[in-house]
Amino acid sequence: MSVKANAAGAASSLYRVLDYIRRYGPLAKKELQRHTGLSWGSISTYTARLLADEVIVEYAGPRGIHKGRNPSSYAVNRRKNWILGMDVQMNRLSAVVTALDSHLLYSAAVDLKNRDAAGVFKNIITLAELLFHKVKTPGEIKRIGFSMPGLINPKPGKPLSVYHFTGVFPGNMAELIKERFGVPAAVFHDPDCMLMTHFNSMPPEEYKMACAGNVVLIRWSYGIGSALLLNGKLYYGDHRAAGEIGHTIVDPSGPLCICGNRGCLEVYASFRAILEQVHAAMEEGRFDPAVYGQSGGPTRDALWAAYRQKDPLILSVVNRAVDYMVSAVINLVNILDPRMIIFEGEFATAPGECFDRLKAGVLNRIKGEPVTIRVLPWENSGAVGAAEMLVQEVFFETLRKDLRGAG
Ligand SMILES: [Zn+2]
Repeated sequence: MSVKANAAGAASSLYRVLDYIRRYGPLAKKELQRHTGLSWGSISTYTARLLADEVIVEYAGPRGIHKGRNPSSYAVNRRKNWILGMDVQMNRLSAVVTALDSHLLYSAAVDLKNRDAAGVFKNIITLAELLFHKVKTPGEIKRIGFSMPGLINPKPGKPLSVYHFTGVFPGNMAELIKERFGVPAAVFHDPDCMLMTHFNSMPPEEYKMACAGNVVLIRWSYGIGSALLLNGKLYYGDHRAAGEIGHTIVDPSGPLCICGNRGCLEVYASFRAILEQVHAAMEEGRFDPAVYGQSGGPTRDALWAAYRQKDPLILSVVNRAVDYMVSAVINLVNILDPRMIIFEGEFATAPGECFDRLKAGVLNRIKGEPVTIRVLPWENSGAVGAAEMLVQEVFFETLRKDLRGAG
């Protein structure tokens, strides 16, 4: 075997060791051996190397009730190798700084007043600057990752028009950010980021199954998007446009959608579509949020409060959206046969009854093995996932230095 192939093999085993430490650390050598299947000697070599690179730290085990010390354990060094992740949502920007184990070190958010892309881009810069000021050692931020909804034109250098925003984001957004902050940046599709967050917080057995299996995440928010983890790897499609479940057509004669087609799922089931229907009902005097102790427009809280109290109008609007989602999920299951579907986003905060209805609707109409449906809303999952997407890149950068040093 060539020196190069040897080095590549060692690098991937090293990452494997780090990967388990960052997911499940602190871990002792014995536990690492069990998780990775590597030999005791390899584990010793690799942990020594990760320690020398300051990627991990060693905790001396406490004295046990038996003679001598308990074995040391290893955890990610949270003082080094940080990543800034930012989630660009329709109504809000949220940003985090995480360590290589996705541990949240700092966070900040800002509400968006309008949906003009140029204005939002300015807000993005300001929020990133705020975090660079907030952290103790800004030089430790090695990458910046963005989680963004439906990119219409993800080709480098071309303006990015993003569904739900007016105007365009700079096509060279990543380069502009790099110039401004001096670290490489990258833009990802938001459901992919969220899926990475949940994929990385799975318990060991579930993680092993997901690594070899198929998991879908549906972000059910103002828009509806999905991420596909096929055979343990994110699937992007040949034009990086896979997973647009929100723009699958559920009624060809339905109303026009922002994508230019008619009767897309998003027109009926998105959180935006629901709010629009509720808003129309308010204007016509058919719904009053004040009845449920809420004032102002049709907010999420007012909606769920009314749903819990069985307001007939809200029940019919929300249940109709759920039933459209049931059809979309059944189509998805019939095509991909995934092991698990995870729901995220604004709608994932709905009362449990909504998802009971969805699960019953799906499971009643699927033959064969039932799919596991999880509802896991977490406001930081997009931002943490955008950082998570860059973990390997940051790790291999520290490693390349190490290999040069060793060579
Ligand atoms: Zn559409």
